[in-house]
Amino acid sequence: MVIKSTGNLYTVLTSENKTVPCKITGRYRLEGLKSTSPIVVGDRVQFELAQGDQIGRISEVQERKNYIIRKSSNLSKTYQVIAANIDQLMLIITVEYPKTFPEFIDRYLVSAEAYDIPAILYFNKIDLYNSAQKAYMNELIKIYTDIGYPCFQISALEKTGLKQIKETIKNKISLIAGNSGVGKSTLINAIDPTLDLTVREISDYHKKGKHTTTFVEMFQVATGGYLIDSPGIKGFGLIDMENEPLFHYFPEFFRLSEKCKYYNCLHVNEPECAIQHALEEGRISTSRYASYLSLLHEQKEAEKYRK
Ligand code: GDP
Ligand code: ZN
Repeated sequence: MVIKSTGNLYTVLTSENKTVPCKITGRYRLEGLKSTSPIVVGDRVQFELAQGDQIGRISEVQERKNYIIRKSSNLSKTYQVIAANIDQLMLIITVEYPKTFPEFIDRYLVSAEAYDIPAILYFNKIDLYNSAQKAYMNELIKIYTDIGYPCFQISALEKTGLKQIKETIKNKISLIAGNSGVGKSTLINAIDPTLDLTVREISDYHKKGKHTTTFVEMFQVATGGYLIDSPGIKGFGLIDMENEPLFHYFPEFFRLSEKCKYYNCLHVNEPECAIQHALEEGRISTSRYASYLSLLHEQKEAEKYRK
């Protein structure tokens, strides 16, 4: 499994738990031409290591269960694969310090749905919130729990909720995401203090405001599991989703949509729309619906440029 990628050199963890630096052979590189990073962390590969050689040659890459991508720029068609074979998304949210907007949460959840990655929501910094902020947090927790996303309240600083997290990440590849400042590095350090140095390095990188992630690393947690920190990834980008309508990635919309009058209902202003009806009755949250409209608009704008 590839656990680190820096330019042309990959660190591969073998089944005997050894790490071997590897390069790609010319042949493989060609096949991956469509994306700018043909092999990424999480990829399962085979490599050849000739006797006496220090660096292995990757000869084969296994088919990916899933992968996450990031657009190189807003309107460009090229994209960068960031990581592969992700088992779960851990979305770190703070209702304050800094405020995480529901649309940011929904953007990530839509991507997770599109890539078939189960998502878990962690509300961090609960040690800081006053009663109004807690009430708001509980509102959000109710919304997302009702949809089916597990939600947890944690404090990375005070190490509350950590035991459960360690269990959740065992034997899995977890992608940690969230706004800058929500406590991702602090959480990773709390989960495994021996990871300290590397995390700080990534945080500094992050603070310079660079958004080109040519450098993604997977951390092996002492108590089991792998974490991928995602500096600079604002969202996964909504590309590669043109084939399916957006509402398929809003599970509570999708469940209701068969009751819409029109099979191709976009749930915006069509008559006898089950989603708009549920919204009026409060069975669909206004913030989720607002996110839906916003992403739908974005998708349409992007399509215009593609033509
Ligand atoms: P990142 O940008 O997501 O990696 O966020 P950091 O881990 O760098 O944390 C940003 C700031 O929030 C730091 O000053 C942390 O000490 C602080 N922080 C992180 N988690 C918590 C928490 O649970 N409670 C409190 N009070 N502060 C926290
Ligand atoms: Zn509808």
